[in-house]
Amino acid sequence: MPCFICTACGMQYAASEKPPAQCLICEDERQYVPPRGQTWTTLETLAQSHMNALREYEPGIIGIGSQPAFAIGQRALLVRTGNGNVLWDCVATLDAATVTAIKGLGGLHAIAISHPHFYTTMVEWARAFDCLIHLHAADKAWIMRDDPAIELWDGETKKLWDGVTLIRCGGHFPGGTVMHWAKGAGGRGVVCAGDILTVATDRKWLSFMRSYPNFIPLSAREVEHIAAAMAPFTFDVLYGHYFDRVIQKDAKPVLEKSVARYLANISGTARKAGE
Ligand SMILES: [Zn+2]
Ligand SMILES: [Zn+2]
Repeated sequence: MPCFICTACGMQYAASEKPPAQCLICEDERQYVPPRGQTWTTLETLAQSHMNALREYEPGIIGIGSQPAFAIGQRALLVRTGNGNVLWDCVATLDAATVTAIKGLGGLHAIAISHPHFYTTMVEWARAFDCLIHLHAADKAWIMRDDPAIELWDGETKKLWDGVTLIRCGGHFPGGTVMHWAKGAGGRGVVCAGDILTVATDRKWLSFMRSYPNFIPLSAREVEHIAAAMAPFTFDVLYGHYFDRVIQKDAKPVLEKSVARYLANISGTARKAGE
């Protein structure tokens, strides 16, 4: 039986004879069902129309994303530490070329994912590379294809190895996670943020929302929690969830001023440009 993939969000479901009646991710208020209605594909069909492109951002970090873009359109990151690679976030497309290329770079030691919108075909990736998937337990209900490779973690941080730490920020999802790598950017530190801390289109600011497509903001309390969760960590570069969404330097002060701007705007105390 096939494991159907939602073409709108990229989530892969457990094996079934027919496609699921609905995609629970797309029915949630954070996503949407497209005007054309709900449609489904499979990994095999997807591999005939899509492939993955790789972009090296720095010696230890390579972006991997579907071409043409598929579903939400995010790219994943291959983070290459001295003691094993981590795949940060995930993309639905997984073809033979991707497997061969990543195996040539040392394979995967683990997969870690920011939130359910990027779970996609994580189980296929875990099987291809024989590795575990680290997901925050608070988002357990959104796992649509369960598998023994999935390891849930709880609490506020989880250390992996070689200066890699998963940090629970919450916000967009209760288990919303970012990944800090102390050794990234030549030791200045990097944050792989998914869209838990979202790099804005101008690449100068971050923002934080419950829903990006449906414009649902987070509360002050939730954004203050994000700031507190990130405060202990040092970092200079921040990678968002699209190929071109990267804060190239001073990412920590960018986060601090972005939190302040967000709080000022939702409390009505921000001075608007042109006013
Ligand atoms: Zn969906
Ligand atoms: Zn999302």
